[in-house]
Amino acid sequence: MRLLAYWDPEHGPGLGLLDADERVVHLSTDGLNWQLLKENGLADLRRAAELLAGTGGLPRSEVDPLPAVTPGKIVCIGLNYRDHLEEQHLPMPDRPMLFGKWSNALIPDGEPIVRPEGCEALDAEVELGVIIGRQARRVSAAEAMDHVAGYVVVNDVTARDWQGNKGALHPGARGDGQWLRAKGSDTFLPMGATFVTTDEIPDPGHLRLRSWWVRGSGPDAGREVLMQDGTTADMLFDIPAAIEFVSRAITLEPGDVLSTGTPSGVGVFRDPPIFLEPGDRARCEIDGIGSVENPIVDWSAAAH
Ligand code: MG
Repeated sequence: MRLLAYWDPEHGPGLGLLDADERVVHLSTDGLNWQLLKENGLADLRRAAELLAGTGGLPRSEVDPLPAVTPGKIVCIGLNYRDHLEEQHLPMPDRPMLFGKWSNALIPDGEPIVRPEGCEALDAEVELGVIIGRQARRVSAAEAMDHVAGYVVVNDVTARDWQGNKGALHPGARGDGQWLRAKGSDTFLPMGATFVTTDEIPDPGHLRLRSWWVRGSGPDAGREVLMQDGTTADMLFDIPAAIEFVSRAITLEPGDVLSTGTPSGVGVFRDPPIFLEPGDRARCEIDGIGSVENPIVDWSAAAH
């Protein structure tokens, strides 16, 4: 089942079935919240979708997208693709390198990514987001997929100049010493509107992920520049291994999102490095799941 979260001007957050013709058949006015997942609402939605399939609906282009899900927790894995480690000449880590984002970072498809005051090195990372459907506490890798409801495309937006390991105690250091501000600033988690349930993706271990930048100015102005082109087969810790590791220490609840890392090709490791500028757009796409595209604006020009 492919579901789409959108804003319904009459009823608020809506949830629809996305049919093969990219038309949205309205299913629910509740959105896809964690409660719906917790109560095994996907089975009810599937029945409703079967009844309503082919009954019309709106073209997708006529509805305003919302993030596919509103997570209670967003647990992210850094350094999880072999080619991304190789491009920065790092050894393979012996365990998933975790960090978190909060709901302040979450924005829908189309809403601006705000480059915060003082940031000069904004970058984008296409990632497969795993949506938890059933509470996961100390689950084994073998059981882990029973706790997954589906998948979504996310962009792990990053302020590279704040991400450096030398922290605030080092005179002149640009990096914060950890990643909270570099990864967790407002608008730093664009999320696609399409929620694709696990039955549609029998093998999440072989999905193609790509990102493009559309430059607003300079020699590439108006042209789509392919930045990342990877496959989830390159993950160091796959989804079951990651859920096993995380859930030993952190209980994952329905609606939580596990963002599983990014392949090579990011701006900071280009020669020379390049960064997103106001006027650019960043687009992330995963075959079979969807896309999310957002313009970049500077904080000084953003709506307050
Ligand atoms: Mg990332």
